[in-house]
Amino acid sequence: MNVSVVLFTSDLRLHDHPPLRAALDGAREVVPLFVRDRAVDGAGFATPNRLAFLSDCLRDLDAGLRERGGRLVVRSGDLVAQVCRVAAEAGADEVHLSADASAYAHRREERLRHALEAEGVRLHVHDAVTSAVAPGAVTPSASDHFAVFTPYFRHWSDQRLREPLAAPRVVRVPHGVGSEDLPAYRGVSEGLAAGGETEGRRRLTSWLEHGIDAYEDRHDDLAGDATSRLSPHLHFGTLSPVDLVQRARAAGGRGADAFVRQVAWRDFHRQLLAARPAASGTDYRTRHDRWRTERTAREDIEAWREGRTGYPVVDAAMRQLRHEGWMHNRGRLLTASFLTKTLYVDWRIGARHFLDLLVDGDVANNQLNWQWVAGTGTDNRPNRVLNPVTQARRYDPDGAYVRRWVPELAGIEGPAVHEPWKLPGRDRAAVDYPDPLVELSEGLARFKRARSHG
Ligand code: FAD
Repeated sequence: MNVSVVLFTSDLRLHDHPPLRAALDGAREVVPLFVRDRAVDGAGFATPNRLAFLSDCLRDLDAGLRERGGRLVVRSGDLVAQVCRVAAEAGADEVHLSADASAYAHRREERLRHALEAEGVRLHVHDAVTSAVAPGAVTPSASDHFAVFTPYFRHWSDQRLREPLAAPRVVRVPHGVGSEDLPAYRGVSEGLAAGGETEGRRRLTSWLEHGIDAYEDRHDDLAGDATSRLSPHLHFGTLSPVDLVQRARAAGGRGADAFVRQVAWRDFHRQLLAARPAASGTDYRTRHDRWRTERTAREDIEAWREGRTGYPVVDAAMRQLRHEGWMHNRGRLLTASFLTKTLYVDWRIGARHFLDLLVDGDVANNQLNWQWVAGTGTDNRPNRVLNPVTQARRYDPDGAYVRRWVPELAGIEGPAVHEPWKLPGRDRAAVDYPDPLVELSEGLARFKRARSHG
């Protein structure tokens, strides 16, 4: 066997890359290929922040391949047609690809397999590259997926992970296989993080040395910003989840245990989406909601998107999202609860806005976390409502997070910043900040009424 193609998708790295290793072991030359898939662009997933991060990833991948004597081949258009064309140009008889969890990834794999087989080319799909434990690798006895995290996590923890693979030393790419220029995009968020495997590995090393020990105690501290911020690297696969879990476990301690548990949530949502692909757009467990929508709640939705609901911690988090293309997990929880429960707006509207801006925006994690918060997913307390003032007092006790993101309130000291409507008349008048969009008690009553009719 002479030539293999490695199709890179959500696995934009050289370390611990089983498809690349298999291709290099089986062939003399390898075409590392990335296709800018027209279907992904068309489905609204190619948003500016993620395209900017992707540009960094491809550039870094190409540089890493060049250090090893190779290069990245980039094409754009229909993914299946492009892979077949490159395989034909290179005279390849095998294509290697990582398995992925979404319905789109499954369809892509099937279409690719048929088209390649018709040309006499074999497709090899590799598991546990984009997740630590592959979807379907653990299942309960009576179902094809786990609907509850705790038992899933027990089984997940018992799985033996493979040994991470080193990056290859040499990659030989056949001459004559042309490539488009690497894309170069700019994000819309000024504070967007940089992408690429080199950056991901640097962040991981620094996290293991300086951050992980305090994770258990500080992960909910909004102002402390003490989470790993590795989510975009996991989304684009610039870090290997298997490698990440092994290295975190080796670090040891309470912090590492809590961190690994969070990473398992990622796999939990992936196994759920793989088994129930429709959950990306429809209720996993319907509560018979008749949500407010763009038509019936336009102004509320706009205020939420723009971070001017009058609830400072909600607005701070929404502005962080716009500025960084990323939001703290506690912020995601409370802004999503505010939209779906206090404003009683359809979770899909919030999920779409998050996907438009999040650099880690991910179908499995985003849609299923939104469903979790909306109470249509796997939360066993579907009607819980997070009170933004109580949440703010607990997770931003001094108000530093709010003052960082809502400059209109920067002059208010201490926790009073969470309730500007309580300021005495003259002080309130001096602050250019809206009154609350809705009384919390009113929002709660509306939600309870809606759910009691369900
Ligand atoms: P850390 O706290 O350092 O956690 C480490 C890793 O564990 C994360 O990078 C992530 O891969 C995983 N993880 C952590 N929390 C969760 C969780 N609740 N569910 C699944 N995986 C988790 N995460 C995304 O990656 N993409 C999304 O589009 C996304 N949308 C979300 C929408 C809502 C409404 C909510 C409530 C959560 C969402 N999350 C999403 C999960 C979580 O908020 C982020 O993964 C996390 O904030 C990323 O920051 P970090 O890397 O510093 O996380």
